[in-house]
Amino acid sequence: MLISGFLVLVIGGIFHVLENQRPLERVDRKLHLKFDIIAIAISSLIVASLTVWLLDGVARTWLTDNVQLFDSVISQPLWLRIFLALVIGDLGYYIAHRLMHTSPLWRTHIFHHSIQQIYWFSGLRTSALNSLIIRVP
Ligand SMILES: [Zn+2]
Repeated sequence: MLISGFLVLVIGGIFHVLENQRPLERVDRKLHLKFDIIAIAISSLIVASLTVWLLDGVARTWLTDNVQLFDSVISQPLWLRIFLALVIGDLGYYIAHRLMHTSPLWRTHIFHHSIQQIYWFSGLRTSALNSLIIRVP
């Protein structure tokens, strides 16, 4: 989790420099940066603790106990597991995002689309429930 947070900051720093050098449009990032940092920090802390308990603990235990497919995937070569993780993870993220635009889930997702000025960090603005649902795939 620490590594993924560090990667977000490194990649974000690269995009920050690129956005400064070649902006598509002028954006006043300071206007919403403090709000975005607080919102993203709160959402990330809630989701990180729930993810460890719910998805890594309960879901993984249930999968290893009840789904035989899990064992056959684990026994595959590393390159194939990485490929499957990328394809299934990306497809799952796409499907989950599409479902967020439907009536029952839109209320959890509308905060993400409340952004008026888009910059690299603003896309991370999501509600905790939205972030939790999007991590399920
Ligand atoms: Zn969306």
